[in-house]
Amino acid sequence: MSERYDAAIIGTGPAGLSAAITLKIRNKKILLLGSKELSPKIEKAHEINNYLGIPAVKGSDLGQRFMEHLKQMEIEITEDQITTVYAMGEYFSLQSKTNEMYEADSVIIASGVNFGKLYEGEEKFLGRGVSYCATCDAPLYKGKTAVVIGQTPKEEEEAQFLSEVAEKVYYVPLYKEETHLSDAVELVADIPVSIEGTMKADRLVLKERTIEADGFFILRESVSPAQLVPGLAMDGNHIAVNRKMETNIKGCFACGDIVGLPYQYIKSAGEGNIAALSAVSYLDGKKKEK
Ligand SMILES: Cc1cc2nc3c(=O)[nH]c(=O)nc-3n(C[C@H](O)[C@H](O)[C@H](O)COP(=O)(O)OP(=O)(O)OC[C@H]3O[C@@H](n4cnc5c(N)ncnc54)[C@H](O)[C@@H]3O)c2cc1C
Repeated sequence: MSERYDAAIIGTGPAGLSAAITLKIRNKKILLLGSKELSPKIEKAHEINNYLGIPAVKGSDLGQRFMEHLKQMEIEITEDQITTVYAMGEYFSLQSKTNEMYEADSVIIASGVNFGKLYEGEEKFLGRGVSYCATCDAPLYKGKTAVVIGQTPKEEEEAQFLSEVAEKVYYVPLYKEETHLSDAVELVADIPVSIEGTMKADRLVLKERTIEADGFFILRESVSPAQLVPGLAMDGNHIAVNRKMETNIKGCFACGDIVGLPYQYIKSAGEGNIAALSAVSYLDGKKKEK
Protein backbone atom coordinates (compact mmCIF):
# COMPACT_ATOMS: atom_id res chain seq x y z
CA MET A 1 0.00 0.00 0.00
CA SER A 2 1.36 3.45 -0.83
CA GLU A 3 2.29 5.94 1.88
CA ARG A 4 -0.51 8.38 2.80
CA TYR A 5 0.45 12.07 3.19
CA ASP A 6 -1.52 14.72 5.06
CA ALA A 7 -1.16 17.08 2.10
CA ALA A 8 0.14 16.83 -1.45
CA ILE A 9 1.24 20.15 -2.93
CA ILE A 10 1.34 20.38 -6.72
CA GLY A 11 3.78 23.05 -7.88
CA THR A 12 7.12 24.48 -6.77
CA GLY A 13 6.56 28.18 -7.50
CA PRO A 14 6.13 30.71 -4.67
CA ALA A 15 2.56 29.50 -3.96
CA GLY A 16 3.47 25.84 -3.52
CA LEU A 17 6.67 26.54 -1.59
CA SER A 18 4.92 28.89 0.81
CA ALA A 19 2.16 26.30 1.37
CA ALA A 20 4.80 23.62 2.03
CA ILE A 21 6.62 25.75 4.62
CA THR A 22 3.45 26.54 6.56
CA LEU A 23 2.29 22.92 6.54
CA LYS A 24 5.69 21.80 7.75
CA ILE A 25 5.58 24.33 10.60
CA ARG A 26 2.20 22.83 11.53
CA ASN A 27 3.78 19.35 11.64
CA LYS A 28 1.92 17.94 8.67
CA LYS A 29 3.34 15.15 6.57
CA ILE A 30 3.74 16.72 3.15
CA LEU A 31 4.54 15.69 -0.40
CA LEU A 32 5.85 18.62 -2.47
CA LEU A 33 5.68 17.82 -6.18
CA GLY A 34 7.33 19.80 -8.94
CA SER A 35 10.89 20.56 -9.95
CA LYS A 36 14.17 21.16 -8.10
CA GLU A 37 14.63 24.08 -10.50
CA LEU A 38 11.48 25.47 -8.79
CA SER A 39 9.62 27.51 -11.44
CA PRO A 40 10.73 28.96 -14.80
CA LYS A 41 8.87 32.11 -13.74
CA ILE A 42 11.28 32.60 -10.85
CA GLU A 43 14.40 31.76 -12.86
CA LYS A 44 13.49 34.02 -15.80
CA ALA A 45 12.77 37.24 -13.89
CA HIS A 46 15.51 39.76 -14.59
CA GLU A 47 15.01 41.89 -11.48
CA ILE A 48 12.26 41.80 -8.91
CA ASN A 49 11.53 44.95 -6.94
CA ASN A 50 8.28 44.17 -5.18
CA TYR A 51 9.06 41.16 -2.99
CA LEU A 52 8.85 42.30 0.63
CA GLY A 53 12.20 42.43 2.40
CA ILE A 54 14.31 41.44 -0.62
CA PRO A 55 14.65 44.51 -2.91
CA ALA A 56 16.20 44.50 -6.41
CA VAL A 57 16.73 40.76 -6.51
CA LYS A 58 17.41 38.65 -9.59
CA GLY A 59 14.93 35.81 -10.11
CA SER A 60 17.69 33.21 -9.89
CA ASP A 61 18.85 34.70 -6.56
CA LEU A 62 15.32 34.71 -5.16
CA GLY A 63 15.07 31.04 -6.22
CA GLN A 64 18.30 30.35 -4.35
CA ARG A 65 16.86 31.97 -1.21
CA PHE A 66 13.73 29.82 -1.54
CA MET A 67 15.88 26.67 -1.86
CA GLU A 68 17.87 27.59 1.26
CA HIS A 69 14.61 28.08 3.16
CA LEU A 70 13.39 24.62 2.11
CA LYS A 71 16.71 23.07 3.07
CA GLN A 72 16.67 24.73 6.48
CA MET A 73 13.20 23.31 7.09
CA GLU A 74 14.14 19.88 5.72
CA ILE A 75 11.53 20.00 2.98
CA GLU A 76 12.26 17.72 0.03
CA ILE A 77 10.99 18.24 -3.51
CA THR A 78 9.74 15.16 -5.34
CA GLU A 79 10.51 15.73 -9.02
CA ASP A 80 7.41 14.48 -10.74
CA GLN A 81 4.52 15.88 -12.73
CA ILE A 82 0.97 15.04 -11.75
CA THR A 83 -1.33 14.23 -14.64
CA THR A 84 -4.59 13.48 -12.76
CA VAL A 85 -5.92 13.96 -9.25
CA TYR A 86 -8.79 11.65 -8.30
CA ALA A 87 -11.05 12.64 -5.41
CA MET A 88 -11.76 9.32 -3.69
CA GLY A 89 -14.08 10.70 -0.98
CA GLU A 90 -11.93 10.36 2.13
CA TYR A 91 -8.63 10.96 0.35
CA PHE A 92 -7.02 11.88 -2.98
CA SER A 93 -5.14 9.66 -5.37
CA LEU A 94 -2.59 11.39 -7.61
CA GLN A 95 -1.30 9.85 -10.80
CA SER A 96 2.00 11.07 -12.21
CA LYS A 97 3.69 11.21 -15.57
CA THR A 98 6.14 8.53 -14.40
CA ASN A 99 3.14 6.32 -13.59
CA GLU A 100 3.58 6.68 -9.80
CA MET A 101 0.46 6.83 -7.65
CA TYR A 102 0.53 9.01 -4.52
CA GLU A 103 -2.12 9.31 -1.80
CA ALA A 104 -2.94 12.29 0.40
CA ASP A 105 -5.77 13.40 2.68
CA SER A 106 -5.74 16.88 1.14
CA VAL A 107 -4.38 18.50 -2.02
CA ILE A 108 -3.12 22.00 -2.73
CA ILE A 109 -2.95 22.96 -6.39
CA ALA A 110 -0.28 25.60 -7.01
CA SER A 111 0.50 24.74 -10.61
CA GLY A 112 0.70 28.22 -12.15
CA VAL A 113 -0.73 29.16 -15.53
CA ASN A 114 1.58 27.53 -18.05
CA PHE A 115 -0.81 25.13 -19.71
CA GLY A 116 -1.58 27.16 -22.87
CA LYS A 117 -4.56 26.74 -25.14
CA LEU A 118 -6.07 23.33 -25.81
CA TYR A 119 -6.03 22.09 -29.40
CA GLU A 120 -9.37 21.72 -31.11
CA GLY A 121 -10.51 18.13 -30.46
CA GLU A 122 -8.07 17.60 -27.56
CA GLU A 123 -10.69 17.60 -24.81
CA LYS A 124 -13.23 15.66 -26.91
CA PHE A 125 -10.80 12.80 -27.56
CA LEU A 126 -9.01 12.75 -24.19
CA GLY A 127 -8.94 9.07 -23.17
CA ARG A 128 -10.02 8.11 -26.70
CA GLY A 129 -6.70 8.38 -28.46
CA VAL A 130 -5.46 11.54 -26.74
CA SER A 131 -3.21 11.13 -23.69
CA TYR A 132 -1.02 13.33 -21.48
CA CYS A 133 1.29 10.55 -20.29
CA ALA A 134 3.43 8.34 -22.55
CA THR A 135 4.80 6.29 -19.66
CA CYS A 136 1.27 5.44 -18.50
CA ASP A 137 -0.36 4.73 -21.86
CA ALA A 138 2.51 3.45 -24.05
CA PRO A 139 1.39 -0.23 -23.77
CA LEU A 140 -1.88 0.69 -25.52
CA TYR A 141 0.11 1.59 -28.64
CA LYS A 142 2.21 -1.53 -28.97
CA GLY A 143 2.81 -2.09 -32.68
CA LYS A 144 0.77 1.02 -33.56
CA THR A 145 1.45 4.58 -34.70
CA ALA A 146 1.70 7.45 -32.23
CA VAL A 147 2.33 11.18 -32.40
CA VAL A 148 4.01 13.09 -29.58
CA ILE A 149 3.67 16.86 -29.29
CA GLY A 150 6.38 18.12 -26.93
CA GLN A 151 6.31 21.56 -25.31
CA THR A 152 9.89 21.34 -23.99
CA PRO A 153 13.02 19.25 -24.74
CA LYS A 154 12.26 17.22 -21.57
CA GLU A 155 9.50 15.44 -23.52
CA GLU A 156 11.98 13.85 -25.96
CA GLU A 157 12.63 11.12 -23.42
CA GLU A 158 8.95 10.15 -23.49
CA ALA A 159 8.93 10.05 -27.31
CA GLN A 160 12.05 7.92 -27.29
CA PHE A 161 10.50 5.53 -24.76
CA LEU A 162 7.33 5.29 -26.84
CA SER A 163 9.36 4.37 -29.93
CA GLU A 164 10.51 1.21 -28.12
CA VAL A 165 6.88 0.05 -27.92
CA ALA A 166 5.06 1.60 -30.89
CA GLU A 167 5.63 0.65 -34.52
CA LYS A 168 6.04 4.29 -35.59
CA VAL A 169 6.46 7.52 -33.61
CA TYR A 170 6.27 11.08 -34.94
CA TYR A 171 7.58 13.91 -32.77
CA VAL A 172 6.37 17.51 -33.11
CA PRO A 173 8.56 19.88 -31.03
CA LEU A 174 6.94 23.16 -30.00
CA TYR A 175 10.34 24.71 -29.20
CA LYS A 176 13.33 26.04 -31.11
CA GLU A 177 16.15 24.09 -29.39
CA GLU A 178 17.87 21.30 -31.30
CA THR A 179 16.28 17.87 -30.80
CA HIS A 180 18.22 14.77 -29.74
CA LEU A 181 16.23 11.78 -30.88
CA SER A 182 17.20 8.47 -32.47
CA ASP A 183 16.25 7.52 -36.03
CA ALA A 184 13.33 5.52 -34.63
CA VAL A 185 11.46 8.80 -34.14
CA GLU A 186 10.41 10.91 -37.12
CA LEU A 187 10.73 14.63 -36.52
CA VAL A 188 7.90 16.85 -37.79
CA ALA A 189 8.65 20.56 -38.02
CA ASP A 190 5.13 21.91 -38.25
CA ILE A 191 2.42 23.56 -36.13
CA PRO A 192 -0.44 21.43 -34.75
CA VAL A 193 -3.92 22.78 -35.36
CA SER A 194 -6.49 20.13 -34.39
CA ILE A 195 -7.05 16.51 -33.49
CA GLU A 196 -9.80 14.85 -35.47
CA GLY A 197 -11.62 11.54 -35.66
CA THR A 198 -15.03 9.93 -35.20
CA MET A 199 -15.37 7.54 -32.23
CA LYS A 200 -11.64 7.82 -31.56
CA ALA A 201 -8.99 10.36 -32.56
CA ASP A 202 -7.33 9.17 -35.74
CA ARG A 203 -5.46 12.17 -37.20
CA LEU A 204 -3.49 15.25 -36.27
CA VAL A 205 -4.03 18.19 -38.57
CA LEU A 206 -0.97 20.44 -38.77
CA LYS A 207 -0.55 23.65 -40.76
CA GLU A 208 1.27 21.90 -43.62
CA ARG A 209 0.18 18.27 -43.41
CA THR A 210 -2.06 15.70 -41.70
CA ILE A 211 -0.71 12.67 -39.83
CA GLU A 212 -2.88 9.59 -39.35
CA ALA A 213 -2.15 7.71 -36.14
CA ASP A 214 -3.68 5.65 -33.32
CA GLY A 215 -2.48 7.72 -30.37
CA PHE A 216 -1.74 11.40 -29.75
CA PHE A 217 0.39 12.39 -26.77
CA ILE A 218 0.27 16.05 -25.82
CA LEU A 219 3.09 16.66 -23.35
CA ARG A 220 3.20 20.04 -21.66
CA GLU A 221 4.89 21.44 -18.55
CA SER A 222 1.49 21.42 -16.90
CA VAL A 223 -2.04 20.43 -17.75
CA SER A 224 -5.11 22.62 -17.45
CA PRO A 225 -6.75 22.41 -14.00
CA ALA A 226 -10.00 20.99 -15.38
CA GLN A 227 -7.99 18.08 -16.85
CA LEU A 228 -5.85 17.79 -13.74
CA VAL A 229 -8.75 17.43 -11.30
CA PRO A 230 -11.96 16.12 -12.88
CA GLY A 231 -15.00 17.91 -11.43
CA LEU A 232 -13.11 21.03 -10.34
CA ALA A 233 -15.21 24.22 -10.65
CA MET A 234 -13.56 26.87 -12.81
CA ASP A 235 -13.95 30.60 -13.15
CA GLY A 236 -12.90 31.13 -16.76
CA ASN A 237 -9.32 29.83 -17.04
CA HIS A 238 -8.77 29.95 -13.29
CA ILE A 239 -9.77 27.60 -10.48
CA ALA A 240 -12.74 29.03 -8.55
CA VAL A 241 -11.85 29.50 -4.85
CA ASN A 242 -13.22 31.41 -1.87
CA ARG A 243 -11.14 33.56 0.49
CA LYS A 244 -9.94 30.43 2.28
CA MET A 245 -8.57 29.10 -1.03
CA GLU A 246 -11.11 26.27 -0.87
CA THR A 247 -12.28 24.81 -4.19
CA ASN A 248 -15.66 23.13 -4.75
CA ILE A 249 -14.05 19.78 -3.82
CA LYS A 250 -13.72 19.15 -0.06
CA GLY A 251 -10.07 18.88 0.94
CA CYS A 252 -8.82 20.38 -2.32
CA PHE A 253 -7.34 23.89 -2.16
CA ALA A 254 -5.72 26.10 -4.80
CA CYS A 255 -3.47 29.16 -4.73
CA GLY A 256 -1.22 31.42 -6.80
CA ASP A 257 -1.55 32.39 -10.46
CA ILE A 258 -3.90 29.47 -11.08
CA VAL A 259 -6.67 31.11 -9.03
CA GLY A 260 -6.50 34.46 -10.82
CA LEU A 261 -4.93 37.84 -11.43
CA PRO A 262 -2.79 39.67 -10.49
CA TYR A 263 0.08 37.33 -11.32
CA GLN A 264 2.57 38.27 -8.60
CA TYR A 265 5.07 36.44 -6.40
CA ILE A 266 3.92 37.91 -3.13
CA LYS A 267 0.24 37.31 -3.84
CA SER A 268 1.07 33.69 -4.74
CA ALA A 269 3.13 33.19 -1.59
CA GLY A 270 0.38 34.79 0.55
CA GLU A 271 -2.29 32.58 -0.94
CA GLY A 272 -0.07 29.52 -0.43
CA ASN A 273 0.00 30.39 3.25
CA ILE A 274 -3.81 30.70 3.38
CA ALA A 275 -4.33 27.43 1.47
CA ALA A 276 -1.99 25.64 3.90
CA LEU A 277 -3.76 26.98 6.98
CA SER A 278 -7.14 26.02 5.50
CA ALA A 279 -5.77 22.53 4.81
CA VAL A 280 -4.59 22.34 8.46
CA SER A 281 -8.15 23.20 9.69
CA TYR A 282 -9.59 20.63 7.31
CA LEU A 283 -7.17 17.89 8.42
CA ASP A 284 -7.60 18.65 12.13
CA GLY A 285 -11.40 18.67 11.69
CA LYS A 286 -11.24 15.28 9.99
CA LYS A 287 -9.15 13.88 12.83
CA LYS A 288 -11.69 15.06 15.44
CA GLU A 289 -14.55 13.41 13.51
CA LYS A 290 -12.80 10.04 13.82
C1 LIG B 1 9.78 37.07 -16.73
C2 LIG B 1 8.84 37.24 -15.56
C3 LIG B 1 9.06 38.25 -14.66
C4 LIG B 1 8.20 38.43 -13.56
N1 LIG B 1 8.43 39.44 -12.68
C5 LIG B 1 7.65 39.58 -11.60
C6 LIG B 1 7.93 40.61 -10.64
O1 LIG B 1 8.86 41.39 -10.77
N2 LIG B 1 7.11 40.67 -9.54
C7 LIG B 1 6.08 39.80 -9.33
O2 LIG B 1 5.42 39.89 -8.28
N3 LIG B 1 5.79 38.84 -10.22
C8 LIG B 1 6.53 38.70 -11.36
N4 LIG B 1 6.23 37.72 -12.27
C9 LIG B 1 5.04 36.86 -12.04
C10 LIG B 1 5.41 35.65 -11.15
O3 LIG B 1 6.45 34.97 -11.75
C11 LIG B 1 4.20 34.72 -10.94
O4 LIG B 1 3.09 35.45 -10.49
C12 LIG B 1 4.54 33.63 -9.90
O5 LIG B 1 5.67 32.88 -10.28
C13 LIG B 1 3.36 32.68 -9.72
O6 LIG B 1 3.68 31.73 -8.76
P1 LIG B 1 2.89 30.34 -8.70
O7 LIG B 1 3.53 29.59 -7.57
O8 LIG B 1 1.44 30.56 -8.67
O9 LIG B 1 3.19 29.61 -10.09
P2 LIG B 1 4.52 29.32 -10.89
O10 LIG B 1 5.64 30.18 -10.46
O11 LIG B 1 4.12 29.33 -12.32
O12 LIG B 1 4.90 27.83 -10.44
C14 LIG B 1 4.12 26.74 -10.77
C15 LIG B 1 4.96 25.49 -10.64
O13 LIG B 1 4.14 24.33 -10.70
C16 LIG B 1 4.77 23.34 -11.49
N5 LIG B 1 3.71 22.48 -11.99
C17 LIG B 1 2.71 22.83 -12.84
N6 LIG B 1 1.90 21.79 -13.07
C18 LIG B 1 2.41 20.75 -12.36
C19 LIG B 1 2.01 19.39 -12.22
N7 LIG B 1 0.95 18.91 -12.85
N8 LIG B 1 2.75 18.59 -11.41
C20 LIG B 1 3.85 19.08 -10.75
N9 LIG B 1 4.26 20.36 -10.87
C21 LIG B 1 3.55 21.18 -11.66
C22 LIG B 1 5.46 24.17 -12.57
O14 LIG B 1 6.44 23.42 -13.23
C23 LIG B 1 6.01 25.29 -11.72
O15 LIG B 1 7.21 24.89 -11.14
C24 LIG B 1 7.09 37.56 -13.38
C25 LIG B 1 6.86 36.53 -14.30
C26 LIG B 1 7.72 36.37 -15.38
C27 LIG B 1 7.46 35.23 -16.38
